[in-house]
Amino acid sequence: MQETDSDSDWIPQGVDLERPSVARIYDYLLGGYHNFAVDRIMVDRLGPLASEAALTAVINRAYLRRAASFISQQGIDQFLDLGSGIPTAGNVHEIVRQYEPDARVVYVDIEPVAVAHGEAMLRNDPYAAAIWGDVRRPLDILNHPLTRELIDFSRPVGLFAVALLHYIPDDEEIVHVMQIFKDALVPGSYLALGIWTYDDVPRDAVEMYVETTKSTSTPGRPRDYDTVLRFFDGVEILEPGVVHSPQWRPDGPDDICFDEPGRSATWVGVAIKR
Ligand code: SAM
Repeated sequence: MQETDSDSDWIPQGVDLERPSVARIYDYLLGGYHNFAVDRIMVDRLGPLASEAALTAVINRAYLRRAASFISQQGIDQFLDLGSGIPTAGNVHEIVRQYEPDARVVYVDIEPVAVAHGEAMLRNDPYAAAIWGDVRRPLDILNHPLTRELIDFSRPVGLFAVALLHYIPDDEEIVHVMQIFKDALVPGSYLALGIWTYDDVPRDAVEMYVETTKSTSTPGRPRDYDTVLRFFDGVEILEPGVVHSPQWRPDGPDDICFDEPGRSATWVGVAIKR
């Protein structure tokens, strides 16, 4: 007999199998298997654009890897990864421990499947944890017992909000939420952002993907360059500035989409709090 989603033993209690989720759609785009039929149908409806969406996911993971490597090479050994997603190849704790073997990492996501798999992956890891949290409630995340146990806010922290903030529709809410996170960090802390955009990419291609997210609990809304700059208020954006993700400190000219950076449909940047 064929196994259905509801038979699978990796699904946490209380997950709505009928509603797609951006975390599971992203997992499917990256070739993972922690997704349901309802998620796969959404991607398959993109038709020829599904491969373009998958490309943006791969480009985004490559940026996350480069940003995490850079920040840990600056000596940062504790990280808060907001909207961390379902664990996949190249999770933040795996990247940063190449440079800081005892680095501590707290993963936060609103999707129960992401949290359940994070918990399973980190069961025997005393220095990393996955917690459920809504980035729109920053104090709940900052005051969560596991955040407090693992992260010492009197020392610099690396804060990630990569491919996340476009899931908050209101600009002012993002500014407000990010200010609370930035205020919680001491000078010397780093911030890495990545946000969808329509800038420099055929609008209809991005629009189809945005449509896909409308039936999820976290619909996406891309932002233009000037709006993204606002989310960096109060911190110093490091070279090369806010750029399309393939342009952010590429490993070399052979890097994915180096010659067509707009195809990432994403603005990214890394900043330091002075
Ligand atoms: N940060 C990872 C990366 O860049 O590879 C995953 C990005 S994935 C596209 C976006 C993630 O943000 C999903 O796992 C989704 O569940 C999560 N998310 C969306 N809205 C959220 C919210 N309000 N609070 C916390 N997580 C959220």
